[in-house]
Amino acid sequence: MFDQFQLHDRLLKALEPLGYCEPTDVQREAIPAAMTGQDLKVSSETGSGKTAAFLLPTLHKLLQKDAPKAGTRALILTPTRELCRQVVKHCKQLAAFTHLEVNAITGGHDFKYQRAIFRKNPEILVATPGRLKEHIERGSPDFNDLEVLILDEADRMLDMGFMDEVMEIAASCNPERQTLLFSATLDGQQYVGESLLRDPQTIALAKPRQASGQVKQQIVLSDDEKHKNKLLLKLFEQVEYDKAIIFTNTKAQANKLAGWLRYMKLEVGVLHGDMDQDARNNEMNRLRRGRVKMLVATDVAARGLDIKGMDLVINYDLARSSEDFVHRVGRTGRAGEEGLAISFITHRDWDLMVRFERELQIRFEKRKVPGLEAKFKGPKKVKASGKKAGVKKRSGENSKEAGKGNEKVKKRHRDTKNIGKRRAPSAKPAAGKWGDGFAPAPIKKKPARLDQDED
Ligand code: AMP
Repeated sequence: MFDQFQLHDRLLKALEPLGYCEPTDVQREAIPAAMTGQDLKVSSETGSGKTAAFLLPTLHKLLQKDAPKAGTRALILTPTRELCRQVVKHCKQLAAFTHLEVNAITGGHDFKYQRAIFRKNPEILVATPGRLKEHIERGSPDFNDLEVLILDEADRMLDMGFMDEVMEIAASCNPERQTLLFSATLDGQQYVGESLLRDPQTIALAKPRQASGQVKQQIVLSDDEKHKNKLLLKLFEQVEYDKAIIFTNTKAQANKLAGWLRYMKLEVGVLHGDMDQDARNNEMNRLRRGRVKMLVATDVAARGLDIKGMDLVINYDLARSSEDFVHRVGRTGRAGEEGLAISFITHRDWDLMVRFERELQIRFEKRKVPGLEAKFKGPKKVKASGKKAGVKKRSGENSKEAGKGNEKVKKRHRDTKNIGKRRAPSAKPAAGKWGDGFAPAPIKKKPARLDQDED
């Protein structure tokens, strides 16, 4: 029950219509800790209720006393416009019975209009770092009396290269403020803004780069674009879903695929970084209101998109990093709902898929689409002799685990005759989930993002 936190009555009142009866894990831990006034570093899975975990104690704090002066009292930084919109909406809901006002400052909106927002001294601001920094350079915001600074999805801000902006914004804020850092993943110590925390309490609920728990993860082997398109149509027939999001890696591919689906008489929306804010809002509203059942999107949409009933995610193109993968898949399975994520895997994606399994500690289930089997059946099998040059073992698999085939190999004459002599590291293939041994190519470095958010 939320009563246990002794939150302001007006906040408790707002929770009822939202249907929040029990706090989620992150809320149970972070709300009381933040209410003590200390800095926090929190990691928790995407969709776990983080937004209310930082908004409720912040709103509570602001309600404890009247605004001391005219400036902003709470500032929330988010990596993307979509997430910013989402946080503003959530904040308005939670502050519905209070006098507290919340405003957004993001790219894609009129600069002059935003300067007028600053003149009205908004108590709570939600902003993307790029645009806010521009306003700071022109002297509009006043963060001298800031009471709380929140970095939402700090890991993503780091990924997107917002480090400098965040540091500059923080430098313009009241040094006595409380700082709350929230992140979906726990990746070492390199959070953006970590140096801004003073003696923080750490609340680590996310396992390293963990994918959402309620989501069933499947892969479908595929050959090329034409094959993927056929698979897509078949899957829409096979799978029962309410709303679906299909991810591509580039804006051009998103437009092309949406165009093709429309040509196939499917009602589909599209969302990517080249669209202005009004167009993006329009597309999301069409999906929310059920005018379209599916949305083709790039990663720009993956953060902050919280649409009820989103129960199918299709990775038409596999995400380029495990972080992006987690956030794409996190669009479904939110707030305890069930979801299905299907990733198309071509021969080029195989190694990355294996890496995601390892890093995210998940196992993809192989889904068959009868009549549309791919020519690609997984990596080429190699002979158990391991003679093939350059054959490497799949990590975590040694010759002991590799089963009977390799037992035989061990007893070979050339091994016994060489006893006592130094050996080069073994190049034997190991039995894997997908076959009796294969030769994965070295994992390529993550390529540059083609659809970076533009805030
Ligand atoms: P978030 O991780 O903040 O994006 O929240 C994910 C979803 O969980 C949102 O749709 C929230 O409205 C919902 N949510 C957050 N806290 C609770 C709660 N205590 N009970 C039920 N739903 C919640």
